[in-house]
Amino acid sequence: MTEELYYTSAYISEFVAKVVECRKCEINPSKAQASGMQASKEQASKAQASGNAETSMITEASNSQDMYEIILDKTAFFPEQGGQGSDGGVLEFEDGAKRAQVLHVSISEQECDGKMNEGDNLDGNAGNKPDKHFAMIRHLVDREIPVGTTVHGVIDFSHRFSNMQQHTGEHIFSGLVCSRFGYDNVGFHLSDSEVTMDYNGPITLEEIREIEAKANEVIWQNLEVLCEFPEESRLENIPYRSKKELTGDVRIVTIPGVDICACCAPHVLRTGEIGLLKVVGLQNYKGGVRVNILCGKRAMEYLNKEHEIVSELSNMFTTASENIITAVKKLSNANSELKQELSEATSALIEAEVKEIDKSLENVVLIKKNLDGNAMRKLVNLLTADHSGFCGVFAGSTADGYRFIVGTSNKDKDCREIANMMRTQFGAKGGGSAQMIQGSLKTEDIEAVVDAIK
Ligand SMILES: [Zn+2]
Repeated sequence: MTEELYYTSAYISEFVAKVVECRKCEINPSKAQASGMQASKEQASKAQASGNAETSMITEASNSQDMYEIILDKTAFFPEQGGQGSDGGVLEFEDGAKRAQVLHVSISEQECDGKMNEGDNLDGNAGNKPDKHFAMIRHLVDREIPVGTTVHGVIDFSHRFSNMQQHTGEHIFSGLVCSRFGYDNVGFHLSDSEVTMDYNGPITLEEIREIEAKANEVIWQNLEVLCEFPEESRLENIPYRSKKELTGDVRIVTIPGVDICACCAPHVLRTGEIGLLKVVGLQNYKGGVRVNILCGKRAMEYLNKEHEIVSELSNMFTTASENIITAVKKLSNANSELKQELSEATSALIEAEVKEIDKSLENVVLIKKNLDGNAMRKLVNLLTADHSGFCGVFAGSTADGYRFIVGTSNKDKDCREIANMMRTQFGAKGGGSAQMIQGSLKTEDIEAVVDAIK
């Protein structure tokens, strides 16, 4: 069993431990992907690009398929559980000469619902469980570390702290949703790319904005976030949120006046450390809603990106940001009007062009660069009125391919024969009736296709 240092403090980013088990294992690609292991390997590659000899060594090991599962006597690496990905980082060997990349961390037979597993130290005092807790935790690493080796564990703390910000933000948001609507967060997901909560009831965008504003007020109040394992007798009287009925030792996370929830993950000590909570997505989901949030640095990065977009648009339209929507609407309307004008002009041009074509011709096929479907149909209809054979139009280019419509007003002719011919000779796609066919094809020599129809 491994001592869980993240329960002593969520801020332990470095620790010294002993390897008690080391087992060679094969990579399970789905597990690796789900846990963000890919990202860890990318980090290793980046490190190699920077020319660091030590990290080059890691990458060398990463490229081989040999992975090892390490069990330590203690760890501060938080394992993947309860919808949250695991911590990453490195295990440095005692002499500092080698180190292994920690690609994934898992916990055995325990689901993250605030419940401790069997074997945890149960010597209670002062109404709370003691600080030390134990579980079966496995570190997936990219090199062998012999049993007995003393290692220096270093967590990617910027990643961990971001998770702490997101997770604590979720507590505040879900606590506010629960007290206002009575809804539960029935699905929580925290990855490197998104944070989603699924609530089992409807919430409008306006209500979400109100909750968001309140959540930020709670953040700025800089409230203490209390994590504890209360004695069973105390626990009975704590009205905590939980996904399911819990028994045994339960870890309770309290944000006074806002939320009490059973949870096993690391959180920030005070709400002020979250900095900012931004709702970036709301959609109907299974009779309730799915809400996407970003906290802290992630929220800042998101807003920076949005700000860059707005600034660029502001420059493009040479207008203040608050006038951009009006400017875009104006541009969109102008575009619609121009399209209408272009369509009318094209129609007039087509009519004029058709009039010029020798009426004695039986088959007429034209090639155009830009014509939409309506204009193509109109052109074919005009042609079939004057010519008794096959009348067609190809619109497009050699690079992009061509769309075509071929029609006839002659009851003795069948356009499907043309379709068959173009399919077999030119690999065209499409079909239709005896009177009209349409489709598309790619060709280097459109003239050859036209000649084959004529
Ligand atoms: Zn939590």
